[in-house]
Amino acid sequence: MKIFLIYGGKSAEHDVSILTAFSITKEIYYKYYDVEPIYITKSGKWLQGMTLESPVINADALKFEEADEAVLAIKEGAISTGVEISPTSIKQEDAVIFPVLHGPNGEDGTIQGLFEVIGMPYVGAGVLASACGMDKIISKYLFQQAGLPQVPYVPVLKNNWSTDAEKVFMQCEGTLLYPMFVKPANMGSSVGISKAENREELIEAIEEALKYDRRIVVEQGIEARELEVAVLGNSDIHTSVPGEIVKTVDFYDYDSKYINNEVTLQIPAKVTEDVSIQLREYAARAFQTLDGSGLSRCDFFLTSNDEIFINEVNTMPGFTQFSMYPLLWENTGLGYGDLVEELIQLALRRFEERQ
Ligand code: ATP
Ligand code: MG
Ligand code: MG
Ligand code: MG
Repeated sequence: MKIFLIYGGKSAEHDVSILTAFSITKEIYYKYYDVEPIYITKSGKWLQGMTLESPVINADALKFEEADEAVLAIKEGAISTGVEISPTSIKQEDAVIFPVLHGPNGEDGTIQGLFEVIGMPYVGAGVLASACGMDKIISKYLFQQAGLPQVPYVPVLKNNWSTDAEKVFMQCEGTLLYPMFVKPANMGSSVGISKAENREELIEAIEEALKYDRRIVVEQGIEARELEVAVLGNSDIHTSVPGEIVKTVDFYDYDSKYINNEVTLQIPAKVTEDVSIQLREYAARAFQTLDGSGLSRCDFFLTSNDEIFINEVNTMPGFTQFSMYPLLWENTGLGYGDLVEELIQLALRRFEERQ
């Protein structure tokens, strides 16, 4: 069987996606699969590389330059090339798509729609869960409906801001206390997110978030620990032990996540059994509410008096060997290679059930 491993992409999380793809190529079961790497460039071109029969030397070997022929770099410093293909040309029998794209165009249901249209099995959430999970406003509405606790928030549309900023201030300051967190509705890796301590900073934060999306959300900022639970399955939902991101910074922004590595993971998180059970139940409920399938990582806040708030779900969480999602499974008894295999099997099962 073939695996089309699709990575890179037009989003701000392009480089993270390449690292995830590299981790997968190290651990996939080559005895069962031929791995066909497809690199989506930052400008959105699809470049197909050479079939992989064993792991590549480093993550750079997966970053193809466009050429008429696909070549795979086999030593440090060499450059791999790929041939441009049309996205619809990957339709094949006996193949599964493994998209490891984060953020807009990869995690938001758009590419999942393409796979549905061409009729191929693919790893991870479907169209609905991807679109709803990516959108912080829609997912808050759905979580509210499902009785999941969350911090107070105010959705803001670009149009409302440009026509009546005063009304937006009244809504935010009438419902929320400073500090507030301002986020684009559709993003990830903390891109476009800022913390506002006063009105001046709120204006800046709103302007910043609006660079990424015309829909944004202003949230009550809270002082809390950050916990995450991994979810795996289709209709049969499994949850991992909770893990904690031990913060050494004020908030977990893009640089602290990927540039400065200011992140320490504590797995399992040091929480009471009651909190652990509650987190896992909420994570499963959030997954079901969004019609999740395959995988997701559910992010929570935990206050010093053990109050839990759901923050968000990520339907294609970071998936390198050092990422929270696979490490949570490793600590729950499922290693990286077996996790990759399980995700492929879940994709095939969902596809068969829907035929
Ligand atoms: P990712 O998908 O990479 O997890 P994201 O871009 O979807 O990130 P969030 O997880 O919503 O963004 O927020 C990023 C970080 O900002 C959180 O991990 C946390 O450190 C901080 N943060 C977000 N919202 C709040 C809040 N309401 N109160 C306090 N801190 C917050
Ligand atoms: Mg997110
Ligand atoms: Mg994300
Ligand atoms: Mg998050």
